[in-house]
Amino acid sequence: MSTDTRRQVMLITGGGRGIGAATAELAAARGYDLVLAYRADAAAAESVAEAARSVGARVEVVQADVSEEASVLALFARLDEVFGRLDVLVNNAGVLDRSQPFVEYTAERMKRIFETNVFGAFLVAREAVRRMSTAAGGRGGSIVNVSSAAARMGAPNEYVDYAASKGAMDSMTLGLSKELAPLGIRVNAVRPGLIHTDIHASGGRPDRVEALSAQVPMARGGTATEVAEAIVWLASGAASYTTGALLDVSGGR
Ligand code: NAP
Repeated sequence: MSTDTRRQVMLITGGGRGIGAATAELAAARGYDLVLAYRADAAAAESVAEAARSVGARVEVVQADVSEEASVLALFARLDEVFGRLDVLVNNAGVLDRSQPFVEYTAERMKRIFETNVFGAFLVAREAVRRMSTAAGGRGGSIVNVSSAAARMGAPNEYVDYAASKGAMDSMTLGLSKELAPLGIRVNAVRPGLIHTDIHASGGRPDRVEALSAQVPMARGGTATEVAEAIVWLASGAASYTTGALLDVSGGR
């Protein structure tokens, strides 16, 4: 059993809004210090940070575009400087594009989705593993990937490219969980269903959760906090024998 009594440090990408912000709030309340990475909305990230600080967390807010390797390296350089340790990575940053028929997808659209959701998640995970791996002198740790129920449903007529990017994230979760277990790192994913956040507006359908909630056995959309509860559990020592899990948080859909 670890004798390390210092506060654990959690890095959350896309920590300024939606599921990332709810995860930050819950993790701060559970005693984590935080690095909140945002791409564009600095004010949102700062307001999440203030709330986390008010419950005792030490929080560093860093601008970083996960799809840019140089930006990811700068994010980790800042993390090293400020905290000098990393215990949990929540790979949460993600984008989708407008709901539209497959034949209308542009190369630019598909590239943006895969560069953020897949390559971004890989780059951030690689840097996290370089710091957490017991083989590299780290203390081990935990990675939680924020995938989507779309990975198993496919999102036809909406965004199959987004669904496929989350399928890639599931494969990454399975592969890395096996490769990294001997290095002291657990890797899991949550697969949220229809959750009330701004992401649906970014796909041109702000009312999407309400419109589709009749398809949910629990007959409602979920909250970002309900997803955060699963993320924080998977991240924590309470999930110490859980790795390679793809945990649906989708009301049964
Ligand atoms: P959201 O409110 O739209 O938040 C997306 C977050 O990702 C924002 O904080 C955004 O930062 C960040 N982000 C986007 N591109 C980035 C980039 N290139 N580099 C760094 N950060 C970037 O959406 P959300 O619903 O909370 O989504 C969070 C995760 O949950 C995503 O991976 C999404 O695919 C997944 N998910 C959501 C649902 C749902 O129904 N809401 C369902 C399944 C899965 P800025 O604010 O700075 O732009």
